[in-house]
Amino acid sequence: MTEQIRFQLSEDQLPKAWYNILADLPFEVPPLLHPATGEPTRLPPPLFCDALIEQEETRERYVAIPEPVREVYRLWRPTPLVRARRLERILDTPAHIYYKYEGVSPPGSHKPNTAVAQAFYSKEAGVKRLTTETGAGQWGSALAFACNLFGMTCKVYMVKISYHQKPYRRVMMETWGADVTPSPSQETQAGRAILEKDPGSLGSLGIAISEAVEVAATHDDTKYSLGSVLNHVLLHQTIIGEEARLQMEMAGEAPDVVIGCVGGGSNFAGLAFPFLRDRLTNGASVRFVAAESTACPSMTRGVYAYDYGDTAHLAPIAKMDTLGHTFVPAGIHAGGLRYHGMAPIVSALHRHGYIEPVAFPQLRVFEAAVLFARAEGIIAAPETAHAIRAVIDEAIAAREVGGRRVILFNFSGHGHFDMAAYESYFAGELEDYEYPAEKVREALKDLPRVS
Ligand SMILES: *Cc1c(COP(=O)(O)O)cnc(C)c1O
Repeated sequence: MTEQIRFQLSEDQLPKAWYNILADLPFEVPPLLHPATGEPTRLPPPLFCDALIEQEETRERYVAIPEPVREVYRLWRPTPLVRARRLERILDTPAHIYYKYEGVSPPGSHKPNTAVAQAFYSKEAGVKRLTTETGAGQWGSALAFACNLFGMTCKVYMVKISYHQKPYRRVMMETWGADVTPSPSQETQAGRAILEKDPGSLGSLGIAISEAVEVAATHDDTKYSLGSVLNHVLLHQTIIGEEARLQMEMAGEAPDVVIGCVGGGSNFAGLAFPFLRDRLTNGASVRFVAAESTACPSMTRGVYAYDYGDTAHLAPIAKMDTLGHTFVPAGIHAGGLRYHGMAPIVSALHRHGYIEPVAFPQLRVFEAAVLFARAEGIIAAPETAHAIRAVIDEAIAAREVGGRRVILFNFSGHGHFDMAAYESYFAGELEDYEYPAEKVREALKDLPRVS
């Protein structure tokens, strides 16, 4: 009998609701605080439309996915669940390894799961334009894709160094009609202030956020859009785990461990939360492993504290695992894992013992990615490769204990725009970065004082 390796849902099995884990948590997630007053606050209405502000706070267990959003999802969803049999054989492991492949979306990652939802609600609210920031370009391209489908303009501030180094993500955004500006720019006060002090500034995510937020705050027809961290973003990503649960049932197995890489925490949460529901409500004994970079180790080495999300202190402050908002990580190739903080819900789950974080240096990460590509064929984004490293380590550990272990991980995106990173790896030019203890100690001095 041939072994089944792909578990595919039909279009009409596409889930009808997102899962809101806030309904089932046995503890409270500390509220957002206003950056100036320190009082509990909602997301600011000048930046976000009402539907998303409500989704940020709702305690309803399931939130219906609007039909126009499901219709767009059907362009690539349900995504495949694949058993990595060839990788299992190469590793000579008794573990069963499954991955949920999010690289089949048009922009190539999980990010359009929320971009499409955010574009839909904003369009419904009469918004004409969405602004955002992007580093390597994955989030910018997801939002450009989504805005185009709903007939909205998309304005992306792209970190200047990436704008010049990664032209193809920019061209992708422009193909979907987005307006992409290298940041810092002359278009905003925030950008002009930086350029005045440092005309040669290559930009940073924090500066680009400040530019995108300023434009939304000063234009009535424009809102801001964030690709990770916030509760509503994690909510939209749960479509991944809801599909994966059905597919694991088709495979006749349940995961012992669920793994994802973590930048802001959204793809990890998206896969993990529906399985965590089983643990919270039925006592299922499943573990959750979050893989980050040693160059930006907010979960393994950060503190759990209130911190700013942006350098200009415009956004609400959140209690989260953080390295300090002034911390600037080394230039690792996994640009999506370079955020100083972590989603408040993921951080709280970590601090309550539900999530085990692990951190990897980039050479071992690329080694894992190449092993995976040669076994299973798919070339991973450098971010995803962190999850693959954790999977391989779990599979090898299973060999030692000799027990059966079912591993499920989120393959958050393909690496087709990251071949320069692979090239550097093959040329022996990649370096590992030690934990930057001194820089983190400095950055933690800039945490806001909250009573
Ligand atoms: C952006 C990105 C990530 C990191 O973001 P999360 O919010 O933690 O998911 C991971 N993988 C890919 C492919 C990405 O594009």
